[in-house]
Amino acid sequence: MLYDLHCHSHYSDGILSPSELVSRAVEHSVDILALTDHDTVAGLAEARQAASEQGLDLINGIEFSCQWAGRGVHIVGLGIDPQSAVMQQAVAEQAERRWQRCEMIADKLHKLGFQGALAGVQKLVDKGTIGRPHFAQYLLQQGHVSSINQAFKKYLGAGKPGDIKNLWPEIGQVVEWIRGSGGQAVLAHPDKYKLTRTKLRRLCDDFSEAGGAAMELISGKQPPGVAETMAQIAQQCGLLASRGSDFHQPGQPWQELGCGGPLPPGVEPVWAAWS
Ligand code: AMP
Ligand code: MN
Ligand code: MN
Ligand code: MN
Repeated sequence: MLYDLHCHSHYSDGILSPSELVSRAVEHSVDILALTDHDTVAGLAEARQAASEQGLDLINGIEFSCQWAGRGVHIVGLGIDPQSAVMQQAVAEQAERRWQRCEMIADKLHKLGFQGALAGVQKLVDKGTIGRPHFAQYLLQQGHVSSINQAFKKYLGAGKPGDIKNLWPEIGQVVEWIRGSGGQAVLAHPDKYKLTRTKLRRLCDDFSEAGGAAMELISGKQPPGVAETMAQIAQQCGLLASRGSDFHQPGQPWQELGCGGPLPPGVEPVWAAWS
């Protein structure tokens, strides 16, 4: 069975609708898919409808932004109840934070000489939660940068003016939300935080202690050895193993739906206890 437990639709910073995403997952031989949009559950009903029509198993998911030791970290929730009071409250709070952040980023860009970003991104966002990718798209559209990647490198990425600090809830809060709505919390793409092994170990210990269940050993196509290193850390911290592509849009083969290797031998998959 092919599991892909991390991907995005146009309800956050993905391009495809939930139905298009389900069709594409089927084309890429995915058997079990979790839709995990950033800080929203808005796409899950449409995804569930499409999945039942196309014979795909859908897991209700979300990807929360939070902070640990002052750094931005992403936590995926799997098997959550999107209708629960806890989840509804959580997504409302995150939406409020995203709006605040949006104004702060626009302000920073204004000071750098880029006017009109707030109105500009509002025009770009249709259904989705608003985020840095929309600002990147705006800067590109206005000719201020030559690529999305450059927008992150110069203005929006870690340590740059558009990287707003201390806005997101602490990691323990999002684990509580996920567990409180019936789900399992999974540390997303642990290799992307550019932490030393000691720091990553500390993050995983804290996450596990807070009630985290698993970490992604596979996040799309990774350099050789990453999954094995992550597997060691997972085992040391008592975390189960997950895998996902982090798919956002076609044309990015390193995060295509279903892609990435199998889980390394000897680890316990997060889905082992699912019926
Ligand atoms: P946000 O949720 O607003 O904090 O934006 C984070 C999202 O931006 C991530 O989930 C990625 O999809 C995207 N992202 C982060 N870094 C880059 C980059 N260098 N190039 C393109 N997209 C990026
Ligand atoms: Mn994203
Ligand atoms: Mn992420
Ligand atoms: Mn993601």
